[in-house]
Amino acid sequence: MSDTKGKAPAAPADEPLDFIREIVRADLADGRRQSVVTRFPPEPNGYLHLGHAKSICLNFGIAQEFGGRCHLRFDDTNPLKEEQEYIDAIERDVRWLGFDWGPHLYFASDYFPQLYDWAVHLIKAGLAYVDDLSADEIRQHRGTLTEPGKNSPYRERPVEENLDLFERMRRGEFPDGTRVLRARIDMASGNINLRDPVLYRILHASHPRTGDAWCIYPTYDYAHGQSDAIEGITHSICTLEFEDHRPLYDWLVENLPVPSRPRQYEFARLNLTYTVLSKRFLLRLVNEGRVRGWDDPRMPTLCGIRRRGFPPEALRQFAELIGVNKRESTVDYAMLEHCVRDVLNQTAPRRMAVLRPLKLVITNYPEGQVEQFEAQNNPEDPAAGTRPVPFSRELYIEREDFMEDPPKKFFRLAPGREVRLRAAYFVTCQEVVKDAGGQVVELRCTYDPASRGGSAPDGRSPKATLHWVSAAHAVPAEVRLYDHLFVRPDPGAERDLLEDLSAQSEEVLTGCRVEPALHDLPAGTRVQFERLGYFCVDPDTRPGQPVFNRTCSLKDTWARVQKKG
Ligand code: ATP
Ligand code: MG
Repeated sequence: MSDTKGKAPAAPADEPLDFIREIVRADLADGRRQSVVTRFPPEPNGYLHLGHAKSICLNFGIAQEFGGRCHLRFDDTNPLKEEQEYIDAIERDVRWLGFDWGPHLYFASDYFPQLYDWAVHLIKAGLAYVDDLSADEIRQHRGTLTEPGKNSPYRERPVEENLDLFERMRRGEFPDGTRVLRARIDMASGNINLRDPVLYRILHASHPRTGDAWCIYPTYDYAHGQSDAIEGITHSICTLEFEDHRPLYDWLVENLPVPSRPRQYEFARLNLTYTVLSKRFLLRLVNEGRVRGWDDPRMPTLCGIRRRGFPPEALRQFAELIGVNKRESTVDYAMLEHCVRDVLNQTAPRRMAVLRPLKLVITNYPEGQVEQFEAQNNPEDPAAGTRPVPFSRELYIEREDFMEDPPKKFFRLAPGREVRLRAAYFVTCQEVVKDAGGQVVELRCTYDPASRGGSAPDGRSPKATLHWVSAAHAVPAEVRLYDHLFVRPDPGAERDLLEDLSAQSEEVLTGCRVEPALHDLPAGTRVQFERLGYFCVDPDTRPGQPVFNRTCSLKDTWARVQKKG
């Protein structure tokens, strides 16, 4: 264990920190805390999303920076919605992000016996009672923000009766929903969370870990702080919607014989344009078949963006860039893509792929001849070396790189015009071949043998450099182009979320042609297709039939926004 004893560890001493790191630094410096222990507490009722990534980077990041530790704790208190599949996926995703909880893997369900005993402790102290009101009646008694609540008729039950009923709740004598255990605090409190909140409910449901051992389950509010206290969490960091729950968090910790005194701190959740970060809604998309699954490359889930090709470094960089705040705001999705491009620009090898092929025949190039050109793998990283790319008489270029009747600013290929083929030769378009419908099906060109390697001895330089593949050597591929899942930056603002789903978020291109080096790469491999964007090999890939997902285009709209100020 990496607990640091005595003096505050060598945390960043002078650089400005976000407000939570400031608190941690001060707590350590003043000796209020000997070490920092945080936790990431997902409920295993869905897959992790980008919002969780912010919380993971924060909790694990703080533990790393201040020489403490971070626990992964499953908040598995609602067996109706929780599944082992989610537990496994969450562990996989946290690891993928680059964090490690070491031996500190916990489950709130492991604390069920202790939580039960503490509930009995509250009953004995006159601080909890069994209520026979229905959920609806409890709601009606709760009052509003402006009106106090009303006491339940069962509030004054004697301790003995409460103990007996609670024990019988546990034994399974009562059906779901007939009774609850409530804290006995104050029905007139200005804070609705303190109006005798429910601590336990009856649920005859099998739990993924405890099976049928329990038929009463603690609520989030009751389980969370006590779990923190059991694990010795020092800084229990959560999102702002729990701010109003903090008095209850503190009340429970103060009134129970817990072994440590955790404190809760709240920060603003991540909101992203064009994105919905809610497990419940994402589950709906999956269940209704609107996407390919939790890991659809358009999903903001960690498994989705992984399949899309986002590198984990980019997410950590993003978390650092957005920082931690106390005020709600919405981050521009372009900022996330900016981080993705930044990492991929350094690391993704360049390759050539043609998405919408147009045949180009070089009439003066010897039939049957093949040359291997050495193409640079990454101009940002000379150490990445080069690779051979075969060149021959028949090539494919991108259909949109040719125009028969080009407008003024179109500098690519056109009749009579010369362009450079990347790393190969200059070619000039001599003839345009069309089919019966008038559609261009082939370009007949000549090449200049003196321009070998991409430059001419006379110094002339074409305005455009095109990517290409050799027809005989290229591998057919499927390429899936992705765009935002929603049509507007604030989905759901004016109508149902589902109505804002974009019909253009996925475009599947078949019949693409990619260079031989893109053959048989393992799923998850990230590359740049020259001039087109960053792409990632999809798990649907089969031998000889690669499938690529577009991670993002090359245009960095965030950098442009930045420059404009
Ligand atoms: P959802 O609303 O998507 O279901 P949740 O908050 O219910 O999310 P939990 O599994 O309870 O999901 O969340 C685990 C941790 O992640 C919590 O501490 C929660 O505060 C944090 N978290 C969830 N969403 C975000 C977000 N958008 N930004 C930052 N942190 C988040
Ligand atoms: Mg939750």
